[in-house]
Amino acid sequence: MFKSLSPVQLDPILSLSIAYREDPRDNKIDLGVGVYRNSLGETPIMQAVQLAEKRLIKTQTTKSYVALAGSEVFNQSMMDLLLSGTSAHSRASAVQTPGASGALRMLADLINVAQPDTTVWLTNPSYVNHKPVMEAAGLKVKYYPYFDPETKQVNSEAMLNELAKAGPKDVVLLHGCCHNPTGADITFADWQAITALANKNGFMPFVDMAYLGFGDGLEQDGAGLKYMADNTEEMVVATSCSKNFGLYRERTGAAIIISNSQQEAQKAKGRILTLARSSYTMPPDHGAALVADILNDQKLTNIWKDELDAMHSRILTLRQGLTQAIRQRGSEQFDFIEQHKGMFSVTGLTSEQILTLREQYGIYAVGDGRINIAGLQEKHIDHLAEALVSVSR
Ligand code: PMP
Repeated sequence: MFKSLSPVQLDPILSLSIAYREDPRDNKIDLGVGVYRNSLGETPIMQAVQLAEKRLIKTQTTKSYVALAGSEVFNQSMMDLLLSGTSAHSRASAVQTPGASGALRMLADLINVAQPDTTVWLTNPSYVNHKPVMEAAGLKVKYYPYFDPETKQVNSEAMLNELAKAGPKDVVLLHGCCHNPTGADITFADWQAITALANKNGFMPFVDMAYLGFGDGLEQDGAGLKYMADNTEEMVVATSCSKNFGLYRERTGAAIIISNSQQEAQKAKGRILTLARSSYTMPPDHGAALVADILNDQKLTNIWKDELDAMHSRILTLRQGLTQAIRQRGSEQFDFIEQHKGMFSVTGLTSEQILTLREQYGIYAVGDGRINIAGLQEKHIDHLAEALVSVSR
């Protein structure tokens, strides 16, 4: 049977990691893989997670199944985290999923069941897996203008003009904060304008919130989503604990459905459970059990919030440090790095320049010019600044 299969190409980020590992140079830098690293270049287990893990080992008495929806304590905590203080909180339901990836797929499947020929509009560019996931669920995909390669910021006018054409058969996917790959976020005024368009023209917003707390902190990063949830009748959210709890491999996330009543939200949740049943059936428990413990224990919550604040402050410092180091070398071309949010920035470098970075400087970035600022170590800044200025001369 499998003889008929043609070989698949290795994921570009994966092949980049392999090439990086094999590079013998001491000053090499990996800006590819999307994980946070501390100043020692490690992706540590957060302290709050370690404490919750210790407690879990002491108190857990069984590994028996939990439920199709995973942990309801976790689900409630995710809704509290994203929707507290909004009218949407009382008309929302949630299902624990294997990461935000699982949530994206379950929500796309739900949309396909509810309204089969829906088109999902994605930012141009968007997270590499958005299109494959939406298409695998049977949805059509279209891109709307987003990133302006000249200014390296969002072109709000072009975005809103295009989104004004979306209607009831459309779903508009938005990045909750810390846009992947560009680092360019929409403003609060944009959130308001898109909410008004959704209400006027009938499209449903779909928010992918994978980096809550990595941009300007928990409150500010969630403000646009909260406004939208408060002011629209229907909306779905895919959220992740991979980055902000550092639980990447534990596959911890949630699909949240907001509807006009709790009854409708529960109906949609029931449908997701049927879809999950015929797929992975139940999400893994470990990560969600830890998050549920952290968010329901004030001491652990405080430790987690402090750690998350330290991570986002460090990313801001790295952004400032890199921009300054580039300026000191006489170039203002990369000033946008300081304004971008979250882990990534799209640099606008050509594939030739990316190749030069790799060959001459041992700096590994993805072919689309995305660099992972959160993967940098302070000691890398001068070498990276030197290389960026040199390749873009
Ligand atoms: N959405 C976006 C925008 C992402 O960048 C990622 C990957 N970090 C995901 C979803 C998937 O996240 P997870 O690891 O939780 O499945």
